[in-house]
Amino acid sequence: MMGGDSTRDAIERLDEAGVPNYFDPARAVSNLDVLARQRRVGEREYTAPKTFDVDTERVEATLASAAAGGRTRLGVEAMDILDAYGIPTPQGGVATSRAEAVDIAAGLGEEVVMKIVSPDILHKSDVGGVKVGVARADVEDAYEDLQSRARDYQPDARVLGVQVQEQVDLSDGVETIVGTNRDPGFGPLVLFGLGGIFVEVLEDTSLRLAPVGEDEAHAMTDEIRAAPLLRGARGRDPVDRTAVAETIQRLSQMMVDVPAIVELDVNPLVATAEGVVAVDLRLTVSPEDLPSNP
Ligand code: ADP
Ligand code: MG
Repeated sequence: MMGGDSTRDAIERLDEAGVPNYFDPARAVSNLDVLARQRRVGEREYTAPKTFDVDTERVEATLASAAAGGRTRLGVEAMDILDAYGIPTPQGGVATSRAEAVDIAAGLGEEVVMKIVSPDILHKSDVGGVKVGVARADVEDAYEDLQSRARDYQPDARVLGVQVQEQVDLSDGVETIVGTNRDPGFGPLVLFGLGGIFVEVLEDTSLRLAPVGEDEAHAMTDEIRAAPLLRGARGRDPVDRTAVAETIQRLSQMMVDVPAIVELDVNPLVATAEGVVAVDLRLTVSPEDLPSNP
């Protein structure tokens, strides 16, 4: 309807009859495209999300004990909640003395990873708070060094201890991220992407509403630009994408089951041909939404 005044009557008639009409042909075409897309969405198979057998009470107990200490931002000290939801985590624990760090490291192989555990340090590696490849003989020194780095960064930082963790072989793995938050309008959202410490720079992610079904979880791993890395680029073995998709589903279930979790990031979730392992965790809790605080 590009005729100006000469088409005014026609436009009126079409409007009265409820027939869409446009001044600009490009708009008409793009609206047809929207209709076609809507149809494709409508024709999609819907598979109901699976419900995994998990331990929600254990998650709530972990969150409640942290909240009792006045903490709402939690990190690797809360790794237990991943275990309660069937997500693999490296072996290890949080040491509060040099001797304890040595004890934990003794059960973990030749080299370990050590990290500062503090609610006041969000990005541990930014302050030199992550040490990879620490030999057994160096565990005590590393413990002291991490403590002093935390103090240098922020003299009054609350330090809960030093996490001593099994070292994961990254040479044949891909660092991914599975993140969640709650949108005020849409509710819980789950994000997947290429992870590691450069995730904000890459911005290569896919997003869904929770709970996420199996097909959608697989689609999320296919959608990112870096998907070829997961399929095994340059002669590397493809990673276990089923395990990645399952982790997406399990975390999406956690967001539905536990309203007290405001947001949660597993970054990195290391994916290899053998499976996945959640190496780092960060989350925010809203204590008033825990069951003990109705
Ligand atoms: P942050 O994100 O707070 O800096 P992370 O725990 O994610 O701390 O560690 C930063 C990086 O260190 C990870 O992206 C990973 O490359 C490496 N890393 C951390 N833990 C391990 C581990 N257990 N095994 C191997 N590499 C690790
Ligand atoms: Mg991290």
